[in-house]
Amino acid sequence: MKPKVVTRFAPSPTGFLHIGGARTALFNWLFARHYGGEMRLRIEDTDRARSTEPAIAAILDGLTWLGLEGDGDVVYQSTRAARHREAVMEMLDKGAAYRCYATQEELAEMRETAAAEGRPPRYDGRWRDRDPAEAPAGVDPVIRLKAPLEGETMVPDLVQGEVRFPNKDLDDLVVLRSDGTPTYMLAVVVDDHDMDVTHVIRGDDHLTNAARQTLIYQALGWEVPAMAHIPLIHGPDGAKLSKRHGALGVDAYRAMGYLPEALRNYLVRLGWAHGDEEIFSTERMIELFSLEAVGRSPARFDFTKLENLNGHY
Ligand code: GLU
Repeated sequence: MKPKVVTRFAPSPTGFLHIGGARTALFNWLFARHYGGEMRLRIEDTDRARSTEPAIAAILDGLTWLGLEGDGDVVYQSTRAARHREAVMEMLDKGAAYRCYATQEELAEMRETAAAEGRPPRYDGRWRDRDPAEAPAGVDPVIRLKAPLEGETMVPDLVQGEVRFPNKDLDDLVVLRSDGTPTYMLAVVVDDHDMDVTHVIRGDDHLTNAARQTLIYQALGWEVPAMAHIPLIHGPDGAKLSKRHGALGVDAYRAMGYLPEALRNYLVRLGWAHGDEEIFSTERMIELFSLEAVGRSPARFDFTKLENLNGHY
């Protein structure tokens, strides 16, 4: 039997729920509903310095207003650090990760050499096969993934097609910092796995992360979920959507008197080809939604269209 479809929306609570995030949540919600599955919510608050309580409240409130509540309890990533460390220990046990004692000076040197040679900085793997007995005293190591040196990592993306990344560009990323805190890249993989996520649907700014995360899945011997990276939203002028294009927060539209149905109807058109201009009921959106109809080019945000849609309600 095929597992139940589980999607997730995993915002970092560093600000309000913006249009792009709301669209990602909507696509995840529709996809899950279409297949009779679930959309889980995860607040990615591992970066304690940047995550705020008001942002968490604003995001949850915005989702509720849009009718996009998650299924089950909200997962707070910061509460799962012990489990993240456990996964890293598993990687060490399997020989899929190693302790790295490179000093800040050595890392700075690697960055400088790369800059001088005009290539992106890359950790040179100096502790990959070194005997841990050589470890300098009193230095807390970071733990790095032992990434393959050759070949490529392929992400079979449901929107972008098969995207290939040469492994030489994906260096041995840090999964656990020297203070014992997990990195974001590791946390996402462990959480998605533990939450039984079958489909990761998110903005295509995460596509390179998808390759790195694939390597972590492989290191842990876990099944990689299906991935769908949707093109970011652009403004009417073709530039990435930003403040100068107008209000970006869902709360701003709410304050202006827009109705959640109108905003949802508008958001669903941002990247999803629907064929005509009808107003969708929620049921119809769920029935029609598919990732095959999500295009590869960025959607354009058009305030006039949103205005017109709002006029229908
Ligand atoms: N927390 C990330 C963000 O807000 C999303 C992570 C993910 O979807 O994997 O951009």
